[in-house]
Amino acid sequence: MKIVVLKFGGTSVGTVSRIKKVAKIIISYIKKKYKVIVVSSAMSGETNKLVKKSKEVSTKFISSEYDVLVSAGEQIACSLIAGALNDLGYKARSWMGWQIPIITQGDHTSSRIEEIYKKNILKYLKSGGTPIVTGFQGINFNKRVTTLGRGGSDASAIMFAKFFNAKRCIIYTDVKGVMTTDPRLFKKVRKIKTISYEEMLEMSSLGAKVMQPHSIQDARLNRIDVDVMSSFKNENGTIITKRRNIKNNKIITGISSTSNDAKLSLIGVKDKPGVAASIFKPLSKNSINVDMVVQNISANGKETDLTFTVKSEDLYKTNKLLKNNTNIKFRKLIIDKNVCKLSIIGVGMITTPGVTYRMFQALADKKINIIVISTSEIKISVLINKKNLKKAISTLHNEFKLNK
Ligand code: ADP
Ligand code: ASP
Ligand code: MG
Repeated sequence: MKIVVLKFGGTSVGTVSRIKKVAKIIISYIKKKYKVIVVSSAMSGETNKLVKKSKEVSTKFISSEYDVLVSAGEQIACSLIAGALNDLGYKARSWMGWQIPIITQGDHTSSRIEEIYKKNILKYLKSGGTPIVTGFQGINFNKRVTTLGRGGSDASAIMFAKFFNAKRCIIYTDVKGVMTTDPRLFKKVRKIKTISYEEMLEMSSLGAKVMQPHSIQDARLNRIDVDVMSSFKNENGTIITKRRNIKNNKIITGISSTSNDAKLSLIGVKDKPGVAASIFKPLSKNSINVDMVVQNISANGKETDLTFTVKSEDLYKTNKLLKNNTNIKFRKLIIDKNVCKLSIIGVGMITTPGVTYRMFQALADKKINIIVISTSEIKISVLINKKNLKKAISTLHNEFKLNK
């Protein structure tokens, strides 16, 4: 059986007329003799509305109920797609995660797919039907509804491609593919034709919303090639694949950014062995993810300054934990919310010296101050003032000739 998995994102199913367009895309694959498994996200904005409602009801909305609530949007979209196909004379039906079932493991709100039961879907495919499956959701071993984290329909599609040994896994979205940077922040972007799992994972983890980071981990682990393309324009998109399949690596493949960061600086911390651990232990115990960290070498051997970043939504809790921490002594705590993290990503930087210098010099030439730096083998991230973000993106896009 020649199976293709087609995943449609929120904007692609955002209105009834778009759903009718999606039905036509699905039919084009059926006509090419594919057996199609469709995975759909909720209509755009629906999941956000449900999240908002949970917050209005309670700031401590229990996570198992949160999953039942926020996964509801997918049901509507799937039923509408099935209806649109039926209307055009094609056999199709919707499937909720629990009906298949899609078994997940891990915590509510950030579960991962462990197994997908194939029997009923295969039977339906063989009978000439097209299953329309809710992305983003599953059930755990206690038969409770779970969700896979925001943007999690991407992971659903990739796991369907794995379990059904699909020939292709296509992510239909509202952009032409994975672009050199977020088109909402920089107009002159270019489409990346092929990108390695490693680079895509960095790009998404560092802010490129186009693919959910966990979904890329799943694709990489299972060696599944992923096509990302537009549901509005009929043209080739981006292929996410093994590094070995990529020729003509550029030094830098893409630029990502996040704007929900906050910087905290502890000034005049009593410097003694174990001080950093004492600062970060309560944060880790409270599931606060500390991102970039710099500690100055203490000039007098007695005091040091320590700067780090957390997600903005964790700022209030972090501030409280630091102030209540009796194991550390410091003179002052400075908080800055006007920061953002900008990253350049590319496997090419492993073999090319001088990339860090070029990045810093290009930003300096535009008088953009770098507050914190962090690097790994294939990425360099800098923390800068939010007001400089667009200018910095365009500067680095030009510096590394990403539009060529
Ligand atoms: P979907 O609803 O189809 O899942 P998302 O909104 O989750 O779509 O992701 C697509 C969006 O990701 C685009 O509209 C774009 O603004 C954003 N984005 C951020 N970085 C990139 C990038 N490098 N390439 C493409 N899109 C990006
Ligand atoms: N509807 C879910 C969300 O908005 C899942 C997805 O879009 O992939 O996060
Ligand atoms: Mg998405």
